[in-house]
Amino acid sequence: MSLPYAEPLTVREPCELVVPEPPRRGEPGGDVCGACEWSDRAQTLWSDEQWRLHSPGQTSLRGAVWLASTVHVDSFADLPPEHQASFGPVCARVDRALMSLDGVARVYLYRWGDGGAHFHVWFMPRPIGRLDMMGHMLPVWEDTMPPLSRAEIDAVGAEISSTMAI
Ligand SMILES: [Zn+2]
Repeated sequence: MSLPYAEPLTVREPCELVVPEPPRRGEPGGDVCGACEWSDRAQTLWSDEQWRLHSPGQTSLRGAVWLASTVHVDSFADLPPEHQASFGPVCARVDRALMSLDGVARVYLYRWGDGGAHFHVWFMPRPIGRLDMMGHMLPVWEDTMPPLSRAEIDAVGAEISSTMAI
């Protein structure tokens, strides 16, 4: 494990439990779902009947994207059958699109799902040669590196869109 912070770090106590947990964006009682309400501004790079591939609002990782179901569901088990059937092939297309970018060593796939009501996963390309960023600390490194400019995010998004269209 390689952290982007100098050691020694200290272990802290976990926070108090929050039960029930607050609703996610797009769930009853939660904030409005931006992916539905502002789909024209949601940086959609590619879409079909089941999935939408989005560019992030900001990132320091060239080629980072998130893939979301077109429907509000919580888990793999809740996905409609056609979404479950197409998930693997769509992930393979996204993986190919990101691996075709310059400077990408490997593409990581993460699912957290705590923020919004669409089932969604994150694809994070690890830059080639960045062995210190291997593994599950890549998102922490992402938070500490200088963010890409909007123009850089848009340019790589256009490359990904082109490859996804093939
Ligand atoms: Zn939504």
